[in-house]
Amino acid sequence: MVGLDEATVTKRPYELEGGLVRLRAGRCPECGAVFCPARLVCDGCGHRGLDEILLAPRGTIYTFTQVHQSTPEFATPYDLVYVDFDEQVRVMLPCAGEETPRIGESVEIVLGRGPRLVEGEPEEGPQAVMVVKAGTERSDGNG
Ligand SMILES: [Zn+2]
Repeated sequence: MVGLDEATVTKRPYELEGGLVRLRAGRCPECGAVFCPARLVCDGCGHRGLDEILLAPRGTIYTFTQVHQSTPEFATPYDLVYVDFDEQVRVMLPCAGEETPRIGESVEIVLGRGPRLVEGEPEEGPQAVMVVKAGTERSDGNG
């Protein structure tokens, strides 16, 4: 039985390994389905209790969109990308940098300055998870 404290504990959505950001995900021990963020019950087979896994630090852009209208806590425009990971899961994340994302492009998970605003300023730091084109320095729009 899962106690209330255990069920409501919120973990960071990633782990840092040697400077690389790896997102937490859940894999169903029954059917192998992977979910990111993890969940308590498998969407595929209904099994309760998924195994925690860490996704690869890089993935490939499946598709993207540029958001021009959003709720007030987001600075627009910003790009959202769907990233496919080797673990057979697709995750939606904001994309850093000023270049337009490209379908099929390799990206890596980074922490930085995201589109969410906190007291009017871009959210920065460990809570802002996003992707950036693999092998390039992230441009955060400063200057
Ligand atoms: Zn399952």
